[in-house]
Amino acid sequence: MSDRKRILIVEDEESIAAGLRFNFEQEGYDSLVVGEGRSALAQFAEGGEGADLVVLDLMLPGMSGYEICRGIREYDPRVPIMVLSARTLSEDRSHAFDCGADQYLTKPFALPELLSRVRNLLDRNIRLGVGAEPERAPLESYRFHDVEVDFRSFELRRGDQVHRLTTMEMQLFKFFIEHEGEVLSRARILKVVWDQSAEVTTRTIDNFVMRLRKYVEHDPTAPRHLVSVRGTGYRFTADSDVATPFVEDDYES
Ligand code: CA
Repeated sequence: MSDRKRILIVEDEESIAAGLRFNFEQEGYDSLVVGEGRSALAQFAEGGEGADLVVLDLMLPGMSGYEICRGIREYDPRVPIMVLSARTLSEDRSHAFDCGADQYLTKPFALPELLSRVRNLLDRNIRLGVGAEPERAPLESYRFHDVEVDFRSFELRRGDQVHRLTTMEMQLFKFFIEHEGEVLSRARILKVVWDQSAEVTTRTIDNFVMRLRKYVEHDPTAPRHLVSVRGTGYRFTADSDVATPFVEDDYES
């Protein structure tokens, strides 16, 4: 089949890289292993073949995984990036998400979980209409206030500013838009948007919401569209002039 998905493995430990490659091929994916950042970025630069998904180690010779992640995002905002790292600190995780990662899995990892997440991330891009034909007509764009979000190009415009959203940022924002006006609990967001919650904490959601606020809010410290609902979660309101009795400070954990 010509539509085999291509996974780029950025990993300098040969035994891990070989194990991943073997398993991805068993699952019917093509894969390419590179051991450092420059070769990884070359895949996305002009003339490179790109990839449908990136599995990225953080500790690599030369460029760090964080830098690689940011670099890939310059070329391709939507390719799903899954960080695989021995680092377990929540700061590392937050930093990886800030650099544009979609998922973060700590080493050692359980192979079935890794494979199920890979399937999931690849499916998600299809559901967003990036790859194959989606099952139902996808929402193509959405406009509110001075913000316009294009679900096909992953671009969000506010005034003359254009931001390119990552797959997970887009997925999360779409979920808010589809449930405009509803209070969405962190648990529900986690379940629906991330599917699996083992490595993603509610803190992750807060980080993603903070990033979305930077794109859509005039004053991200006093949000009017993506408002916190104390002790519960968030609510998206397209019309910021409406009374917002739920507006509270950010949830403290
Ligand atoms: Ca390494």
